[in-house]
Amino acid sequence: MDAPGTWFRTDAHRSALDTERAGFLRDGLMGYRERRTAAQQAWISWEAGTRAAAAIKWEAIERLPELLESFEERLLERGAEVCWARDDVEARAHVLRILREENAKRVVKSKTMTSEEIGLNDALEAGGFDTLETDLGEYIQQLRHEPPFHFVMPSMHLRRDEVRETFERGIPGVGLLDTDDPAELTLIARRVLREAYLAADVGISGANFGVAETGHIAITENEGNARLVCALPRVHVALMGIEKVIPRLADLAILQPMLATAGTGQALTCYNSLYGGPRETGDPDGPRRFVVVLIDNGRSRLLGDPVMRDALRCIRCGACLNVCPVFQVIGGHAYGTTYQGPIGSVITPTFRGVETFAHLAHASTLCGACTETCPVRIDLHRHLLRVRALAAQAAPDPGLRAGFRGFAWLTRHPRLFRAVGRTGRFVLRATRFLAGLDGDPFARWRATRTLEAPRGPGFLGDSRRSGGTG
Ligand code: SF4
Repeated sequence: MDAPGTWFRTDAHRSALDTERAGFLRDGLMGYRERRTAAQQAWISWEAGTRAAAAIKWEAIERLPELLESFEERLLERGAEVCWARDDVEARAHVLRILREENAKRVVKSKTMTSEEIGLNDALEAGGFDTLETDLGEYIQQLRHEPPFHFVMPSMHLRRDEVRETFERGIPGVGLLDTDDPAELTLIARRVLREAYLAADVGISGANFGVAETGHIAITENEGNARLVCALPRVHVALMGIEKVIPRLADLAILQPMLATAGTGQALTCYNSLYGGPRETGDPDGPRRFVVVLIDNGRSRLLGDPVMRDALRCIRCGACLNVCPVFQVIGGHAYGTTYQGPIGSVITPTFRGVETFAHLAHASTLCGACTETCPVRIDLHRHLLRVRALAAQAAPDPGLRAGFRGFAWLTRHPRLFRAVGRTGRFVLRATRFLAGLDGDPFARWRATRTLEAPRGPGFLGDSRRSGGTG
């Protein structure tokens, strides 16, 4: 079987050539940027907000063991169960054990990327459980047998007619539909999902935050499906990465609006709920069993890295994907990972092995747009450089090394260096000239890129004037 780096190159290349899809994606992300900018302007100071959010998450990472213990204690006090999973195997085993203990057959899930990370759906299918995703985007992707395209907007790459076709093919009894209207398509999905909530034995959710002070998980969503998943089935299992814990309930006052603004350009997500235990006497609803599965799966390794631990502050808003020029061209599926885009390229090599996933750190222009947009101020593009350095140490690339040696040699020979520069400028001008002609060999390349004109003498000319060697 090919290595991930090989299929990444193949898939990324194929996606980059799909200019229609890339254009559709760019338009969608442009709309997101406008909404986000408007929402940011409603803050008294977005900058001060990001500083506060970053400080909360730093504190959480620095105090992680202590906060996790407190989180567990508070949950146990209210009759919840807490399971600890070192890796994906243990996490899956916990969930399957709970389902078997409950003699469960039907499972509904709200959006949880942690479940994607641990490969839960395959395990549930292999175990014979009837499992349904209830987030609309996830539901569409499940019908298509595809993973989420974006970890916040799972089916953002699909046109309306593709969603209609997906429903026609995937939902029994729907037949041919005569509408692409999103509201009508949503109503069709709603009818299926409503029945599933009522019939489900177990609801599986994720958690956006875990509050150490009170022992609650906080879930933020726009569709209300998570509330039904958490409240209607008799058992609720919440999957939570250990880095999601935060110190205080009051911290949500900044983190939830920050997540909404950065993630979807909203002032606040529609539904923000807290869950802290099973149904108590007198409660009109809620599960009778509530289990939180705390998952490490590489996070402790990241915590042990004095530089990269910074990435554990991520609140999974997805903003860094939305501004990444590489994501905009290759899309989410080409990454082949649960977490796509810049943050995925930083954490996946640590979670799943730097030797296997180091190629992701090269899926970046290092423009720094991701760092600039991150609401918790993660130094993403510097971490991408660090992953490149770790990869070079783990598996040196002889071609790259020879290239840099050659470049170093060239810089020590100024005449030759200038000659190469002149040739480069000539090729650039010739390429621009060809752009206006029929049969331009670079037409496909140019369809998604702008070729800038060479600008003046630049570094070489300046250094020559100041007596340098270029
Ligand atoms: S790294 Fe920052 S921008 Fe990217 S998903 Fe995480 S919090 Fe959002």
